[in-house]
Amino acid sequence: TRIIETKEISRVYQMGSETINALVSVSISINKGEYVAFMGPSGSGKSTLMNIIGCLDTPSSGTYILNNNDVSDLTENELAEIRNKEIGFVFQTFNLLPRASSLENVALPLVYAGLSKYDREERALAALDNVGLADRASHKPNELSGGQRQRVAIARALVNDPSIILADEPTGNLDSKTSYSIMDLFQELHDKGNTIIMVTHEDDIAHYAHRIVRLRDGLIEKDEMNESVSNTR
Ligand code: ADP
Ligand code: ADP
Repeated sequence: TRIIETKEISRVYQMGSETINALVSVSISINKGEYVAFMGPSGSGKSTLMNIIGCLDTPSSGTYILNNNDVSDLTENELAEIRNKEIGFVFQTFNLLPRASSLENVALPLVYAGLSKYDREERALAALDNVGLADRASHKPNELSGGQRQRVAIARALVNDPSIILADEPTGNLDSKTSYSIMDLFQELHDKGNTIIMVTHEDDIAHYAHRIVRLRDGLIEKDEMNESVSNTR
């Protein structure tokens, strides 16, 4: 079943007298459970498309359908709820609160869920356990390695059990050995049925995905299945 569909979406930025066409009539459909990599040169529109898919930005024209809802019909409150519950964001720079422990960082998205502190901590600990970091619950980010920090960020992205995971250069700040361990984790999430979309410019990272979409100058240049992955679905 289709979870994401953009119909001829464009995104225009006005910089003084200059008009930037960040996305030009992009139509793409993504089914539940797909694992997609967005590739393309810097400035090709990857982050703009991810931000629109993640309801952090809206298209200048065209339609975006998420889970059978036209996003332009949703209120700001409904959008905030979707961002919090339906979508897990993972960033290159981890975006963890430096003074908070792993457990507190992971529990943060649950503050809006109306759970008791005890329930929040229990769920955060379970999410940390899922990424193999239950024994680092009380550590602060600067007491963790880069790979561990990214795993904390992934646990935070997953704590509300979102259906979609959006990762913008999730391995951009990691050495290759650590990057592969993060990709193993994404593979497990994919095997569990999560929909994963990641931006990367590294071929060996993109090849973990089942589908590779290449953008150039705000257009989809290529959209193809990755034949090197055995697709058992
Ligand atoms: P990518 O993620 O592929 O590097 P982006 O989606 O970030 O590309 O950017 C696409 C184009 O839109 C680029 O030309 C970029 O400079 C421009 N752009 C992105 N965000 C903004 C913004 N907030 N204001 C103005 N221009 C922007
Ligand atoms: P990973 O392979 O997950 O990136 P590393 O090999 O970098 O992990 O780290 C090995 C061990 O060293 C880990 O148990 C981690 O907790 C510890 N460690 C790494 N960096 C720090 C740090 N800045 N302060 C305290 N402990 C650290």
